[in-house]
This record gives sequence, structure tokens and C-alpha cells, in this order.
Amino acid sequence: RKGTVVITGASSGLGLATAKALADTGKWHIVMACRDFLKAERAAKSVGMAKDSYTVMHLDLASLDSVRQFVESFRRSDMPLDVLVCNAAVYFPTAREPTFPADGFELSVGTNHLGHFLLARLLLDDLNKSDYPSKRLVIVGSITGNTNTLAGNVPPKANLGDLRGLAGGLTGLNSSAMIDGEHFDGAKAYKDSKVCNMLMMQEFHRRYHEETGISFTSLYPSCIATTGLFREHIPLFRLLFPPFQKFVTKGFVSEAESGKRLAQVVSDPSLTKSGVYWSWNKDSASFENQLSEEASDAEKARKVWEISEKLVGLA
Ligand code: NDP
Repeated sequence: RKGTVVITGASSGLGLATAKALADTGKWHIVMACRDFLKAERAAKSVGMAKDSYTVMHLDLASLDSVRQFVESFRRSDMPLDVLVCNAAVYFPTAREPTFPADGFELSVGTNHLGHFLLARLLLDDLNKSDYPSKRLVIVGSITGNTNTLAGNVPPKANLGDLRGLAGGLTGLNSSAMIDGEHFDGAKAYKDSKVCNMLMMQEFHRRYHEETGISFTSLYPSCIATTGLFREHIPLFRLLFPPFQKFVTKGFVSEAESGKRLAQVVSDPSLTKSGVYWSWNKDSASFENQLSEEASDAEKARKVWEISEKLVGLA
């Protein structure tokens, strides 16, 4: 049978390119878990995905209710869950003030980390039930949260500190909107959320890999300088960032190529190892990369897991 993969944020950028790459193989049915139904339908059509290769389902990761509703709708569809890809993200690099959606958590960590944490925790059961030979949970990471790299050292650097703000619920009221309890910084909030993504992948691996056989992985697909991720950035940045990445850092990768990379992490039989953070070299060959000290801190991962469980109502 075909594999079924759920991809969050498949309406643009990396998620859409991955959906397209997997649909083209004819071996996958893609559940596009998106906040904007019409945009997702149009996106699938615009890249030429066959009508029977995908299903669009509503998911707004900024709302815990929506995450729970998505899980219910998915279960009602009676599709198996073979692979889950946590890909969606928001980035507010120039924001001076935090934004708080309905649940009251700062929007970038709320969407990128807490929404995905609840989704992945709830769907773990469904993944476990699947009879697919290689079940995987993939969480998209980033170099910017990795302070052991050049890009990860561009200020403001990711730093979760003592998790004071996260423990307070990132409400901006009695606690800070930032995980480390400091003043709000939109660029740093994104990087911190990516550190949480990478920590969660490893914590899932430690807690569930042996028992379930599911592979838990993360990746850095290289810099896809043309995606909507940079939509909130100043116009001059958006103009100069792609050529800068292409010609100066040479870290640029096209959306199509990045989609092929994530599709490999979803389906390539040679990429089944669990607990791995995949990256690609200049010749587009995959390799197991090292995470920064903070992004591989097992004690911090456990604490983020436990606090996040409380915040999303699982504990
Ligand atoms: P895009 O902005 O193109 O894609 C992000 C996707 O997330 C969009 O489909 C967006 O939906 C969706 N999304 C945002 N908020 C929500 C929400 N509340 N609920 C559901 N979906 C939501 O950016 P990219 O493709 O670049 O980003 C994809 C992933 O790649 C992210 O995890 C990012 O951190 C990571 N990444 C990107 C890099 C890059 O250089 N671009 C480098 C390293 C990692 P909508 O279409 O409705 O806006």
C-alpha cells in the first residue's frame, strides 16, 4: 500500500516542495495539515500534484483546540499514519512586541514548538498503530538554533536559559514572553523555538524509540532563502538575502532541492536511524550532523518536555 504522511505547513516553501516530491513518487498519500484551506488547495494545484495524491485538512498550530480537532478529523478519516512531519513555522525577526493568540502563549514558540509538541504527542499512538515498515516522526530543525555553527552565532543567539519564561507560560503577564525570561526579541524567539524542536526530537527518541521502533529525526535542509519564512523581514533583507546566500555563504538551496532532502528523511530506506539530526554537504549528500551543546542537553530536553506537557494540558 501507499504510505500516508502528514505534513504541517504544506501550503508553501519546504512543506509544499516536500509534498510535491513525495506525491511525484506515486508511493505516498500526503495529508496537507494547513491553516488556510484554500491556499493549500491552490498550492497543491500550482505545483501539479495529482488530485488523488493529497488531502487538505485544517490545522492551526497556534491553537491547542485546533490541534485536538485536527487529530479527531484525521482519526475519523480512517487513514493510517505512517510518517508525521512537523514542518510549519512562523518567524517575526523585526517584531519588538510579542503577539499572543487565544491560548496566551507567545506566537512563535506557541506555534513552532507547543502546537507541534501537542500534535506529535497525540499522534504518537496513531503512528504506533501503523503497520508500515518504517514509521517516522520528523521535526524540522534549523542551523540558527545551533550555536556551534557560524549562522547560529549571529546575534541574538538561541538560549533557553533556566526556562523561567516557559515555566510561567510565556504569557507576557506574570512571566516573560521569552523562554529564558528576558525581554522579547522576535528573532531570538524563533531560534529558541527551533532549539525546542531539536530537543523534543531527541527526547521522543529517548522515551519511545526502543518501545515503538519509530524513528525520530530532525534536519537542517540548508538555507532556503526564497520561502515565505522571511515575509515579515524588511524589504531590503528580502531582496539581498537570496543572492547573499547564493554567492557569499554558498549555503543556498532551492525550494525544490530542499523538498527532495526532507522527502529523503521521510522515505529513504538508508535514513532510518533514530535520534539523528540530518544535514547535507555541497554535493547534496546527507550526513549525521552534530547539535550544539544546548540543543543536545538531555537534562534541558527533559525539563522542556515536562513544562510543555503542563502548558498544553497533557499533565
Ligand atoms: P514558509 O513560511 O514558506 O512555510 C511555513 C509554513 O508554515 C506555511 O505553510 C505556513 O502556512 C505554515 N504555518 C505558519 N503558521 C501556522 C499555523 N499556526 N498553523 C499551521 N500552519 C502554519 O517557510 P519555510 O518553508 O522556509 O519553513 C518551513 C520549515 O523550515 C520551518 O520549520 C522553518 O523553521 C524551517 N527552516 C527554514 C529555513 C529557510 O531557510 N527557509 C532554514 C531552516 C529551517 P501559510 O501558508 O498559511 O502561511
